[in-house]
Amino acid sequence: MQRTHFRRCSVALLIAGALASGGANAQVEHEKIDGMARDIQPQVVEWRRWFHENPELGNREFNTSKRVAEILTSMGLKPKTGIAHTGVVAIIEGGKPGPLVAIRADMDGLPVTEETGLPFASKARGEFNNTETGVMHACGHDTHMAMALGAASILNSVKDELAGSVMLIFQPAEESPPPGEEGGAQLMLEQGVWKERKPEAVFGLHVGINQPGGKIAVRPGPQLAAVDSFRIIVKGKQTHGARPWNGVDPIVVASQIVLGLQTIASRQVDVTKAPSIVTVGRIIGGIRNNVIPESVEMVGTIRSFDAGMQREIHERIERTARGIASSAGAEVEITIATGYPATVNDPELLERMLPTVERVAGPGNLVDVNPQTVGEDFSFFANETPGLYLFLGNGEPGVDPETLPANHSPLFDMYEPSMEIGVRAYTNLVVDYLQGSNN
Ligand SMILES: [Zn+2]
Ligand SMILES: [Zn+2]
Repeated sequence: MQRTHFRRCSVALLIAGALASGGANAQVEHEKIDGMARDIQPQVVEWRRWFHENPELGNREFNTSKRVAEILTSMGLKPKTGIAHTGVVAIIEGGKPGPLVAIRADMDGLPVTEETGLPFASKARGEFNNTETGVMHACGHDTHMAMALGAASILNSVKDELAGSVMLIFQPAEESPPPGEEGGAQLMLEQGVWKERKPEAVFGLHVGINQPGGKIAVRPGPQLAAVDSFRIIVKGKQTHGARPWNGVDPIVVASQIVLGLQTIASRQVDVTKAPSIVTVGRIIGGIRNNVIPESVEMVGTIRSFDAGMQREIHERIERTARGIASSAGAEVEITIATGYPATVNDPELLERMLPTVERVAGPGNLVDVNPQTVGEDFSFFANETPGLYLFLGNGEPGVDPETLPANHSPLFDMYEPSMEIGVRAYTNLVVDYLQGSNN
């Protein structure tokens, strides 16, 4: 109750201040926003703990979606639900004319059995790949939703002052939908989430990713990798293990292909342009020590940061595997599945918003970051409109992030006071963007 009271006080002060300093053209003041973020922090923690205790897998975020919609409705917003299965979208209409910008948070948990021992630890169970499993917000998406809701609450309180509107996107299945299903950001776009009203910019953030506690990390250009997968079947000719000359040994050919694929990143593409990775993660072939099998299957993952290089790597995988196979008289069947594109921070948008990010982070708390070789489907949104994606350290400030459980660990956790930084980041990015465009 007291929290609500403080919040109302802040809004009243803000509006009084705005009116005193020039009526309709007054701007939302940063200090007020930051004060409101402080006031709503206990509520953000409460939301986060509820989401954390009640995680659901991708495309199954039914209760999560319901809770998000309830909270948005309680703010007086009119959320649309059921987008891309369980996605929720609401728009805060600003009181003055101006552009539309978007905030995006992801909603899904992972098939990980929680081991944190937190009082609000998840006991949820689910099914993934036909296997029963524990479910956990092991990637911090619980905090993303709570922070976005905190920002929504503040922005909604000051909406009359906003020169433009804010689209709140709560997205399912970021960790990719279950096998055989569609989902996530791509499906939201396919279902027309931006068809009627397309935002001029989209903001997102992720906790963890080995960044230092309490700090914001960002870089211009590619920040997260494009993630593709491949499958190669090497077809040889079966024979006795003691008489290899009578057949074509697919195990030897597959071994050569594994090594050949490693020359793509190291010898075939321009390493000075961007890093890339080709990993063979699984090889299946053979049954006993003295039987040369008919075929071998291998599957792997490709990480890249540049769309041109990504295409080139695909071609080189084909060429390398085919060339090696044909040198041995074997054949190959190659399938490359394109996954999430690289998450690229729009350089102009970052330049424009950098003073905001610096101020929100505080002196010495904005850090540079190398491109991260994991992927994010925020990239689908950022491919449609300029995007800005931040990392926020999940640990306690001063603790070496390398010593903490990483994202997807059954021990992953968030130092909750840092969520206030995330709320301030989302809110100030929107407010500054809209005020900037109004100048
Ligand atoms: Zn994740
Ligand atoms: Zn994640």
